[in-house]
Amino acid sequence: MAAVTIIRLPLGPFQVNTYIVICHQRGQAIIIDPAADPQTIIDTLDAQGAVASRILNTHGHPDHLLANAALRRALDIPVYMHAADSGLFADDPGIRLLEQQTGLTVDTIADRPLNDGQILRLGATPLEVLHTPGHTPGGCCFLVDGQLFTGDTLFVGDAGRTDLEGGSLDQLIHSIETRLLPLPDTTVIWPGHDYGTTPTSTLAREKQENPYITDFILNP
Ligand SMILES: [Zn+2]
Ligand SMILES: [Zn+2]
Repeated sequence: MAAVTIIRLPLGPFQVNTYIVICHQRGQAIIIDPAADPQTIIDTLDAQGAVASRILNTHGHPDHLLANAALRRALDIPVYMHAADSGLFADDPGIRLLEQQTGLTVDTIADRPLNDGQILRLGATPLEVLHTPGHTPGGCCFLVDGQLFTGDTLFVGDAGRTDLEGGSLDQLIHSIETRLLPLPDTTVIWPGHDYGTTPTSTLAREKQENPYITDFILNP
């Protein structure tokens, strides 16, 4: 049996994937990219009998962290994000509209930094932070029990855009090549948006089908 249970909740105006990852052994959970609807996230935790200990953001784009402030307050848990992204998009002109659409107050600043190679405990299960800049300077992926949460770094059959503030296609390709491709082919991909033909994939399949990997890295 897998060490963790993963629940995917597409939330908010942009249907960003919020993930709740629960360690069976201890009933502890982390929330990755709480994108809206904090009560739905709390109800889901309660239904699983799980207690969340941390909020992790894959990156600082406002649509991925709309429920940060509400959940931090309701659950009294810290928000983690790479320092390069914390507050970077605080003046994003889209924030006001997102706040109007969701009734939430956006806070783009993290309580604690994420660092490359950092290990966070999820109950009895280690979670590793991989810094993968390119979509944003502070973009991170999270690896836990062979499950890789890729945010907007890597989608099923696609990759994150690099034309926004702080983005770099060269950096994104470098991150995918040096940090993600060395992982086992069986690694399961859980992206920040459901843009592919299936919600999840594996590294093996992406090496066959994802043009950012096949065209930029494997057969340049
Ligand atoms: Zn993004
Ligand atoms: Zn996104």
